[in-house]
Amino acid sequence: MFSAINLRIKRTVLRMQKAQPVVRISDTTLRDGLQTPGIRLDPEQRVRIAQALASAGVHSIDCGFPAAGPSELAAVKRIAQAVKGPILSAHARTKKEDIDAAAEALASVSPLRKAVTLFIGVSPVHRQYKHEMSKAQVIDAVVKSIEHAQKSFEMISFGPEDASRTEPEFLHEVYQNAIRAGVVTIGFTDTVGILTPGKTADAIKRIRDEVRGSEDAMLAVHFHNDLGLATANSLAAVAEGANIVQGTINGIGERAGNTPIEEVVLALTLHKDEFKRSVSVNPAALFELCDLVARLTGFRPAPNKAVVGRNLFRTETGVHQDGLLKNPMTYLPFPPELIGAGPVELVLGRNSGRNAVRHHLAASGIEPTEEHVELVLQYLKDGDHTTTEKLEVRGFMQRLKPFLSEDEFLAQKVAQYEADILAANADSVARSPETVA
Ligand code: MN
Repeated sequence: MFSAINLRIKRTVLRMQKAQPVVRISDTTLRDGLQTPGIRLDPEQRVRIAQALASAGVHSIDCGFPAAGPSELAAVKRIAQAVKGPILSAHARTKKEDIDAAAEALASVSPLRKAVTLFIGVSPVHRQYKHEMSKAQVIDAVVKSIEHAQKSFEMISFGPEDASRTEPEFLHEVYQNAIRAGVVTIGFTDTVGILTPGKTADAIKRIRDEVRGSEDAMLAVHFHNDLGLATANSLAAVAEGANIVQGTINGIGERAGNTPIEEVVLALTLHKDEFKRSVSVNPAALFELCDLVARLTGFRPAPNKAVVGRNLFRTETGVHQDGLLKNPMTYLPFPPELIGAGPVELVLGRNSGRNAVRHHLAASGIEPTEEHVELVLQYLKDGDHTTTEKLEVRGFMQRLKPFLSEDEFLAQKVAQYEADILAANADSVARSPETVA
């Protein structure tokens, strides 16, 4: 057991931290994110991601689930040895052996830099079918596990599974018992991603108002994106006073994934006036962080993925290209540099306008005449050209290649041009007098 004085000091510090106007970001890319089917990282790749998360400013890292087996235990140990800065946490069921595995994995970390996150399903369906436990048995398991965890950890988090589908009265009772037993963080989880922002706001408000002792614990939230609402729900929770938002980079994770950290960080950054709090992660680190996780996991976000999809700063449409050339903010919600991305790409394709064509020709050292621009536009749209024109267009297109959209139609057209030109050359060579002689 913690000594009473120790717990009092901890709670004083915690209340001071809660009073700071900052939303803390907790990362679970290396635990929930790695539960994505088909994603596998070796220990060194996990360390690289954890280090990048640390330098971006995350408050805590959920490093893994050491009780899952020797390789998972070893991977968490590697992170514990190599990563400095954030609080390093390990996942554990409310079982002694899990807590002991977490303690072993994080043994090298100083007491105020490590935590264990205890979980157990609390909803009716989890209690009845998964655990076959009564409400009283669940509470008993939670309290006993917290008492056991105190032998190895100063910082204990309690993150019940499926909180969003749990009877509020029972959920609150579990939280109260956990806080009384000494946890510093309680988690509200939407394990199956079923909530809406309105219902999230209600749930968070009730926890704040009805859970006795809630002022003595940080409130962390964990959402899934099954309805595409994970970010919106996280923001709703922040508006109601949640202290910590947990998510993953690129939103990887079970089923539709977790709350994408990059979306929450950027929304909080752009709307500081609304949320009145800053966010612990530096937005300028986001693009590189998302790219690193995409490369190492092989799990590329869709091109239209919010915040970091590659089409965010690319456009093929004439009207937008024209606007962006005049001032990038005409068609951008935020400058790419804000997340460490950029520059804006004007892609040439069938929707492009003359201004973008002129811009690219000029940028590649060709002083474009209106005739040139017209030839290129016709090529991009559908136009037929004579062989002489094709030769000329090909010259431009070689310069413009880096800007062309990866459009199947254009690729086929380039191939057709090459074939036509070759055929025309062969023909003229065959007919030339020297060849005959
Ligand atoms: Mn989860």
